[in-house]
Amino acid sequence: MEIMIPCAECARAVSMPDNGFGPEGVVLRSRTVHVQEHNLYRAVCPEGHQLVAILDNLPFELLFESGLEALVDGYLRESVSSFAAALERLYEFSIRVQLTGEKVEVNQLELMWKSVAAQSERQLGMYIGLRTLKDGRQPVLMPQSQSKFRNSVIHKGYFPDSAEAFNFGEMVFKLILEEVMRLDECFKDAVSIQTHLHREKATKSLKKEDPPPYMFGFGLAVADRADRPFSDVVTKAQASMRRRRAGEAPPASDSRSNDTRS
Ligand SMILES: [Zn+2]
Repeated sequence: MEIMIPCAECARAVSMPDNGFGPEGVVLRSRTVHVQEHNLYRAVCPEGHQLVAILDNLPFELLFESGLEALVDGYLRESVSSFAAALERLYEFSIRVQLTGEKVEVNQLELMWKSVAAQSERQLGMYIGLRTLKDGRQPVLMPQSQSKFRNSVIHKGYFPDSAEAFNFGEMVFKLILEEVMRLDECFKDAVSIQTHLHREKATKSLKKEDPPPYMFGFGLAVADRADRPFSDVVTKAQASMRRRRAGEAPPASDSRSNDTRS
């Protein structure tokens, strides 16, 4: 999956010729890069400016987007695999948020995570337990039939058709959306702490000689908290991929500044 990093230097220079103009009439120069693991991006913009950027989007948001792009492009096995990974990382985020909400210290949380990090079944078990403790009933989970389907795609080399991949994506979309909305509602401060920690991890990888990083986030499908039909989500992903491939930079999301996590 590729993302575009807008150049803040160029955005400041208002009147450059031959450039794409952003929604505010601001020149947007950008560089396309692959998603990188630590959320810290270094690149050089077409005008030669050094770009150092920290992407605020959480792993589950990026994975879900990667699944959407694969779905739109017809890489259906890959899309199912990314959707499944997005859900697992959402469970991790949720566990971290809920334990932070219960005042577990960050260091203890990291230590605890090491004992479950390698086994997703342990993580799922913890997620079910935590939610049951908080809500007094077990959470809605992936239906068994979908879980079987996922395993056959990931472990048995099954090629899904587009309807199967779409349905799987839709199910994951609903589960993720329901959970992030619940976390925003019940653990608002802990969500902010965890989101901030995520940014801090990237900040730690900065070098002394780096310019101040540009912080940005995209309004990705599950970063945007609005409940809407999954078919709309897919259509939007299709349109934004077309724009990106045509070389047009997406506006960095402003929704971050007024979303509940910041
Ligand atoms: Zn530039």
